[in-house]
Amino acid sequence: MTDGKMPLRAKVASSVSRTAAALSRAAGRGDGSVIGGWIGLKIDPDLLAHLASGRAIALVSGTNGKTTTTRLAAAAVGVLGPVATNGFGANMPTGHTSALAKAGQTPYAVLEVDEHYLPKVLVATEPRVVALLNLSRDQLDRAKEVAMMAQMWRTALAEHPAVHVVANSDDPMVVWAAAGSPAVTWFSAGQRWHDDSWVCPECGSPIERQADQWWCTGCSLRRPVPQWVVEDDGVVDPRGAWHKISLQLPGRVNLGNAATALAVAAQFGVRPTDAVTRLSTVASVAGRYAQVVRDGRNIRLLLAKNPASWLEAFDMADEAPTLLSINARDPDGLDTSWLFDVDFSPLRGRQVLITGDRAYDLAVRLEVNGVPFHHVRTFGEAVKLVPPGRLEVIANYTAFQDIRAELDRVL
Ligand SMILES: [Zn+2]
Repeated sequence: MTDGKMPLRAKVASSVSRTAAALSRAAGRGDGSVIGGWIGLKIDPDLLAHLASGRAIALVSGTNGKTTTTRLAAAAVGVLGPVATNGFGANMPTGHTSALAKAGQTPYAVLEVDEHYLPKVLVATEPRVVALLNLSRDQLDRAKEVAMMAQMWRTALAEHPAVHVVANSDDPMVVWAAAGSPAVTWFSAGQRWHDDSWVCPECGSPIERQADQWWCTGCSLRRPVPQWVVEDDGVVDPRGAWHKISLQLPGRVNLGNAATALAVAAQFGVRPTDAVTRLSTVASVAGRYAQVVRDGRNIRLLLAKNPASWLEAFDMADEAPTLLSINARDPDGLDTSWLFDVDFSPLRGRQVLITGDRAYDLAVRLEVNGVPFHHVRTFGEAVKLVPPGRLEVIANYTAFQDIRAELDRVL
């Protein structure tokens, strides 16, 4: 929709939203994407719908990988023209509103959506494509939410049969949520974390696994044949053509995210051959995977916010000295007993340093896994203790922010 066709209230709300975001940035209060959207929605509750109208939109949701996948998908769709996107993880309606207002008129938008808000954002934006990545518990105290979330997605998608769903065939919860939709493209991005999907969401029977396959022992739910698959260091498309993927982002997990991005972009008519070079331009995502050189150490930051993403971080990290940092403040979840659900043995043989508010919990966990470690009080102390070369830093949410702040101060 052009500004000219927008109702007056929406026009005012959109412009106030942009101004508020700019003011917030100028005042040094973050990038302003939440406050701007919040004010805009106060003036016009339908502002998101007005801003979405006339754009071809893809939504990306799931517990892990959505910020990165959104970034990669926006890069891939960018082959066709300007793409609005919420690149800084402001993934609720206020963030979407602000992102679309700020971008102005673009033919395309790729939006990361918090998994709880997917039904609401489906209604407001009427997307062409929805990508569903995975569902696992975000924090231990929210474990029961996984099945409820799958149910909520399934119900919401049933009300939007025109939406094309791009979904992960390796996650039983995602498959069940998507399976009722008339048009689904399946991709295989792997699932390292199985603890939240041993029970069939359809019938309650156990789910069996063998190699890449999984199936329910009580009903017909089983892994669909994926059309997009990661193979070696590339992705196989639905025609069977293999495309080499050169990413600046580490790990097989990100190859899976790239496959998802290509599958999303294909729904807009982007050929994978045209998109792959654009994927390689993505270097860091909202500070994640950022590499910083300090005192001869090449420091790389990996965010791990829940059990599934800790496993992924071990997979992405090089065999190099590794600093682990854990806090248990509100955004992290107060309970650290999930540490016992994660196998830390992949860290054996590396120089391991630990820090953070809850370093003691981490120490106990590493002790049990037989991983030697060294406790440090500060990030700077860790840098001094490791030899020149790579230092991997794996931290949960607020610990990650602490370390970023410390790096910013020193640099
Ligand atoms: Zn079943």
